[in-house]
Amino acid sequence: MGNIIKVQKGTKDILPSEIELWHFMEQKALEVFTYAGYSEIRTPIFEATELFARGVGDTTDIVNKEMYTFEKSERSLTLRPENTAGVVRAFIEHGMHRLSAPVKLWYKGPMFRYERPQAGRQRQFHQVGMEMFGIEQPTADAEAIAVAIRYLNMLGLNDLDVEINSLGCPECRETFKSKLKEVIKPYLGELCEDCQNRFDKNPLRLLDCKVDSCKEIYAKPEIQEVIQSDFICKDCAEHFDTLKMYLDNLGINYTVNKLLVRGLDYYNRTVFEIKSNNLGSQNAVCGGGRYDSLVRNLGGPDTPAVGFAMGMERLFSLLEEKQNNKLTAYVVSTNIEETIKLIAELRNNGISADFDMTSKKFTKQLEKAAKVANFALILGEDEIANNTISIKDLNKSTQQTINRNELKTFLQNIK
Ligand code: ATP
Ligand code: MG
Repeated sequence: MGNIIKVQKGTKDILPSEIELWHFMEQKALEVFTYAGYSEIRTPIFEATELFARGVGDTTDIVNKEMYTFEKSERSLTLRPENTAGVVRAFIEHGMHRLSAPVKLWYKGPMFRYERPQAGRQRQFHQVGMEMFGIEQPTADAEAIAVAIRYLNMLGLNDLDVEINSLGCPECRETFKSKLKEVIKPYLGELCEDCQNRFDKNPLRLLDCKVDSCKEIYAKPEIQEVIQSDFICKDCAEHFDTLKMYLDNLGINYTVNKLLVRGLDYYNRTVFEIKSNNLGSQNAVCGGGRYDSLVRNLGGPDTPAVGFAMGMERLFSLLEEKQNNKLTAYVVSTNIEETIKLIAELRNNGISADFDMTSKKFTKQLEKAAKVANFALILGEDEIANNTISIKDLNKSTQQTINRNELKTFLQNIK
């Protein structure tokens, strides 16, 4: 065999064994967004580099470090690192601002960022997301969060934390930025290189730093006092309070996280993130917020907007983990005649079941059961003598003994 060319670092093949879950995620997205009145938009994978420099912001990590940029016929092009800028470009280019508000769009597809690959972080990854244009009121922010939660719930994901924050408007944020810089300035020399760069260009992003020594500095009381202060103006506060009221009405639990600033430059007022408790350190599945000045910054008319994006690889790993291909029951017994009878009875009743055909010891059978089934059905001498059966829940390690004639009902309830 000659030289083998391998898949590029940070990219992955989606294999036939995985495609079913991808179809499931895509199908549910189509359903949830369509029911909520969104239409799908598909924009090109590459755009003018300038779109992202202006749209995502040239003080962000994405634009500074993570873009796949190349030249063709003296034009600088970039593989999209996210899709909000592309959707906004299309919104303006096709005159969608002339449609009656709100204009509700959703998308899915691959994004490209030159990052250090690790679990939950790839260089080519997929996002599903939405953008809603034309609504200034917090109703739109609440709907965005509600749609995100509904989609995640439809996928069967429920163990979620919603974090929200308000970044205020450009005016009230200025005061906050200068206060923040003032208290952090004495520590400037101790900050990491990234934070030293952010300090002047984008001080809000300091709060987003993952470096421990920086986090320690930002935890100092005088700095915390500024971070935790209510700096936002009256209008912004009212907007945020109304959003919180809507979320309460919707029964959506959330926490206010004042450190939540998000990586992109374009956000104002509401920002939010949804995290899963079942992922490692890359635990954010969804990020979004309001971006009222982006349409104007990209040359369109003043148009308020709100949107979010979810990482589909992170959703995939949550779904994969939940996928339970185990049998319902594994019979553990040394009495083969009784076992064969019980197995036939279970299977005839539509309950998946298996047993040990090689007369292994009881403990070996239990070990096997734990690997392949959700419940071990134990038929020992006592059980056979008393016409009972012991049921061990192999996920919870609890055990109970019931009458044989109660077994069918029991299993049908848990199937
Ligand atoms: P993170 O803090 O994880 O880098 P981010 O703020 O860069 O996230 P966004 O740009 O808001 O993320 O993208 C929204 C979602 O897309 C994230 O919450 C995450 O689920 C997913 N995502 C972002 N970058 C990657 C990546 N390199 N690989 C896989 N998924 C990603
Ligand atoms: Mg990132």
